[in-house]
Amino acid sequence: MLDIKDIRKEFPILDSQIYGKPLIYLDNAATTQKPLCVIDTISNVYTTMNANVHRGIHHLSQVATTAMEGSRETVRKFIGAEHSHEIIFTRGTTESINLVASSFGGTYLKAGDEVIISTMEHHSNIVPWQLLQERIGIKLRIIPLTAECGLDIEAYKRLFNGQTRLVSVAHVSNVLGVTNPVKEIIKIAHSHDVPVLIDGAQSIPHTRIDIQELDADFFVFSGHKIYGPTGVGVLYGKEKWLNAMQPYHGGGEMIKTVRFEKTTFNELPYKFEAGTPDYVGIIALGKALEWVDSLGIENIAMHEHELTRYAVEKLNTIPGIRIFGKPDGAALSFLIGDIHPADLGTILDRLGIAIRTGHHCAQPLIDYLGIPGTARASFAVYNTKEDIDIFIKGVERAVKMLS
Ligand code: PMP
Repeated sequence: MLDIKDIRKEFPILDSQIYGKPLIYLDNAATTQKPLCVIDTISNVYTTMNANVHRGIHHLSQVATTAMEGSRETVRKFIGAEHSHEIIFTRGTTESINLVASSFGGTYLKAGDEVIISTMEHHSNIVPWQLLQERIGIKLRIIPLTAECGLDIEAYKRLFNGQTRLVSVAHVSNVLGVTNPVKEIIKIAHSHDVPVLIDGAQSIPHTRIDIQELDADFFVFSGHKIYGPTGVGVLYGKEKWLNAMQPYHGGGEMIKTVRFEKTTFNELPYKFEAGTPDYVGIIALGKALEWVDSLGIENIAMHEHELTRYAVEKLNTIPGIRIFGKPDGAALSFLIGDIHPADLGTILDRLGIAIRTGHHCAQPLIDYLGIPGTARASFAVYNTKEDIDIFIKGVERAVKMLS
């Protein structure tokens, strides 16, 4: 059992007052708050070991490089990857997907080839493929949803043909909070010799990832959604793909030799890490993952699942409530009657309660549902049932004001 009271002490921001009310932070799917150990790590790197990594022979540069490479190893262990050079540091999920679209696309895709995505993708797993559609003429095939807002696996199976080159889907929907059967999705794709990218932005903070068991070809996530700093993320890729793929950005660090006649590229992972990396953020991300490990991701998930179950139960007592899909993780989306979610969110904000409203960067899903957007509450390890009680009271009050 986790001691949530103790955990909350590690998050100074949770003591904030918003409009004179204690902050109830339920926007964790957008970004989580940071524990002191992560905040202190950023400060410590700048005060004790700041020097550019990989290039210097001087002491500080070596200390910073060792710390950054230590983080790579921490990430490798955290997701159970075989090699640390399969861990590429990026700016986040968005950049990781753009990297794969550009480098996998540039190496393997030509006009008429097909990439399968789903109706419930975040814009960052739609638009990079559309850019490729414009650039080289690939086609997008979209997995439809079932009546319960899950992925229609039978329809997915029918999307494969001789032109299918890649599947790219979310592990957990950032709108619906539903977990997709990614293991099955990967197995089906592999039976057609098609690789799979899993967008783990919403699963990494709440799910044990064993990348080798999952057998994903690519797995991407952002540090800031798992108690780490903003501006750093991860692309895991199987060595065989990363070795074959063309580089993404050109510049320092990603090269072996540069001549005007010909440049040769560095080995993995550096081939995909042009320029000075955010080594401070990377080192702090390592700290965040160690902190999650110290609590145990299974314990975190159990606590959050209980919060979600409790919130669904309480919300279901409100007349006119619609909860979309079957949330099984740490986020849920809802509407009440014909109240606009933005109005609801604004009133909750005045009560110190932070939720997210709108299309959540998933406009095709919102269009499919035929709604103006949703109100989304999303939970992290530091949230409590008291937070949800206050949230529910706030929703009831807003409903009274708006009806
Ligand atoms: N995919 C999903 C499922 C997400 O929830 C998010 C963030 N909301 C992203 C991708 C993009 O992540 P980032 O903005 O950190 O790059």
